[in-house]
Amino acid sequence: MTTHQKKGAWRTGGCHCGAVRFDVRTPDEIELVDCNCSMCHRTGYLHLIVGAKDFRLTRGADKITTYTFNTGAAKHLFCAVCGVKSFYVPRSHPDGYSVNFRCLDAPDSFASVSTTEFDGREWEKNAGDLAPLESR
Ligand SMILES: [Zn+2]
Repeated sequence: MTTHQKKGAWRTGGCHCGAVRFDVRTPDEIELVDCNCSMCHRTGYLHLIVGAKDFRLTRGADKITTYTFNTGAAKHLFCAVCGVKSFYVPRSHPDGYSVNFRCLDAPDSFASVSTTEFDGREWEKNAGDLAPLESR
C-alpha cells in the first residue's frame, strides 16, 4: 500500500505527560492558523487543521477532559493529567480536528510550514476566511 503524495505521511504527537497520544496525517507542506481569540491567545495554540480521517487518537481517551464556552461548538480537549490541549474539535471545522503544531513530536520534519493569522476575536465576521476541509 502506498501513501498518496498529497496526503503525506502519518506523524505522531501528544500532550506533555504522554497520557494522550495521537497520529495525524499531513502533507509535507503545511499551513498553520495562528488565532488570537481569548482561548488560543492565552495558550499560544498553533492550529494544524485536518479531516477526521486524517486523525486518530492512539492513547488516552479516558484521560481527556472537555471544556466548552460561548457557543459550545468547539470541544476543547485537555489532558486531565498535565493540562495540555494537544488537539481539539474546532468550531470552524466540527467534522475534523485541530492539532496543536507545538505538540507534534517532530515539528521540524516538514518541507515547508507557513502560518496565517486569523482574527478570532471577531470570529463571526472572519470564519468564512478559513479554508473548508474539502480543499485540504
Ligand atoms: Zn498529559
